[in-house]
Amino acid sequence: MKDFLVIGGGVIGMMTAWQLAEAGHGVALVERGRCAGEATWAGGGIISPLYPWRYSAPISQLASWSEGRYAGLAARLVEETGIDPEFRQKGLLYLDVEDEDEAIKWARQVNKPLSRISSKAVYSREPRLAEGLAGGMWMPTLGSLRNPRLGQALRAKLKALPNVDLHEHCLVERLTIKRGHVSGVETATGRVAAGQVILCGGAWTGLLLADLGINLPVRPVKGQMMLFRTPLVSSERQWLERVVLRAGRYLIPRADGCVLVGSTLEEAGFDKIPTPEAKDSLYASAISIMPELAECEIEHHWSGLRPAAPEGVPFIGRVPNVSGLFVNAGHYRNGLVLAPAATRLLVDELLGCPPIVDPEPFRPALRTANHC
Ligand SMILES: Cc1cc2nc3c(=O)[nH]c(=O)nc-3n(C[C@H](O)[C@H](O)[C@H](O)COP(=O)(O)OP(=O)(O)OC[C@H]3O[C@@H](n4cnc5c(N)ncnc54)[C@H](O)[C@@H]3O)c2cc1C
Repeated sequence: MKDFLVIGGGVIGMMTAWQLAEAGHGVALVERGRCAGEATWAGGGIISPLYPWRYSAPISQLASWSEGRYAGLAARLVEETGIDPEFRQKGLLYLDVEDEDEAIKWARQVNKPLSRISSKAVYSREPRLAEGLAGGMWMPTLGSLRNPRLGQALRAKLKALPNVDLHEHCLVERLTIKRGHVSGVETATGRVAAGQVILCGGAWTGLLLADLGINLPVRPVKGQMMLFRTPLVSSERQWLERVVLRAGRYLIPRADGCVLVGSTLEEAGFDKIPTPEAKDSLYASAISIMPELAECEIEHHWSGLRPAAPEGVPFIGRVPNVSGLFVNAGHYRNGLVLAPAATRLLVDELLGCPPIVDPEPFRPALRTANHC
């Protein structure tokens, strides 16, 4: 029997399992598909909330703790697994921001380098953007990564750890609970026992808890994205080099010249089928930022389900009324950026270490009580 069992092999579950294993514990991770096959794969990989000044303090605290760790984390994963998550810190260009004054005020308060820049400065950074831009805002420290590769690297890391058992293609059907204590899970292929269980099931997290009469309000919010293949210019410079954000939609460059456009926000339950309407809308957004994309092939169009907790504040901590059961879910649009801090916060609670930020705003007990 392992000390800990993690349900869900997304970025949250895998980073949790890794940290517990590194602390010397035996860990089982149970994933119904292949690890990093859901939101963790589908996301854009921007390592910041999109408009960070619009978020509450608890999210900002987790985000800024994580942002400072990604360069080291990515370097370590390349070295130890040979898989490069392509973390790049090339900055973010904001266009047409309505609340620029708020943004600048926030940046001063948190000491972030965010400034207004002229039209000339915008085009000197990204010459292929649409004509007629009067200026923008520039955040040079913004990082992004190729999240499918982050997922592959984390999976490879876990597979190499002798104290981790990875059960893929193994659906958790229910939690095993006796006298108010969780002792493992029932899966499609048998029982897996553990001392403590951590639910990291992304948008599906509430389903397992609903069986226990606990209403954890994490709902799926569908997001569709598209990938253009631009011609490779040189190893130094591609058509697009920086993340660009306009009217809530963004372009993200990849090192191989591909450009992602995202994303839609749709209440469609657990439906993940990409739609022609979303494709048209994403295409229009992409062209409005960089018209020359109209000449490029659309290589892929997909969707994923974001796990949305109220106000995007994830549930992190002990599940009320069931001893030994913990949850880390509901990171909504920011699961990749929040993952290092959110998982560390829970691992510290599990191991009895001092918390990196105040855990109270994330505690399930206070926020699920009215729904039980
Ligand atoms: C279009 C889009 C764009 C995004 N862009 C960004 C971005 O730029 N930056 C950012 O920070 N975030 C972004 N996100 C959000 C981010 O992807 C998610 O918040 C994050 O991946 C959530 O990670 P997770 O591990 O909680 O969930 P998931 O990655 O969904 O993992 C949960 C896992 O649990 C498994 N599971 C569920 N139930 C069971 C069960 N009963 N038994 C076994 N396994 C189970 C699932 O199969 C799944 O693999 C984006 C999301 C989308 C959809």
